[in-house]
Amino acid sequence: MARLGAHGEFREEIRFCKFCGGMFRYYGYGYGYCEKCTPIDNEMFHRVKEYIWEHGTATMFETSEATGVSMKQISQYLRDGRLEIPEDSEIFIRCELCGADIRYGRYCPECAGRAVKELKSALKFDLFEIGERPKKGRMHYLHGSKENGK
Ligand SMILES: [Zn+2]
Ligand SMILES: [Zn+2]
Repeated sequence: MARLGAHGEFREEIRFCKFCGGMFRYYGYGYGYCEKCTPIDNEMFHRVKEYIWEHGTATMFETSEATGVSMKQISQYLRDGRLEIPEDSEIFIRCELCGADIRYGRYCPECAGRAVKELKSALKFDLFEIGERPKKGRMHYLHGSKENGK
């Protein structure tokens, strides 16, 4: 989904590519990669997405190994709200505020709700950054171990 600027207009600004760190012109949409890295990113993203949907219970480590995409990059997709993982997946990330398991995004619904109440008008995050809590609380995190029960 396109991400518009704070006021909904297309605004040109200089950003640093999340992948190579190079400067590029950002027009208020896209995921923060330069022209050079956008196709690479799209390709990696699809590889990860397909792998996760085919192997619903894979861990972050397995997914990274199988796709050749770094765990850091996979977690970036989750943080960006681009990647949503199946309900029975063992891949979770943590709420940036309280550390609760979430399936995607940056904050758990509880923290997001609290922030909305406290900040009211000044909502500092996008709706897609609020992640769902997983139904079952397995304990595999990003920095998690190689070994898993399966
Ligand atoms: Zn780049
Ligand atoms: Zn939280």
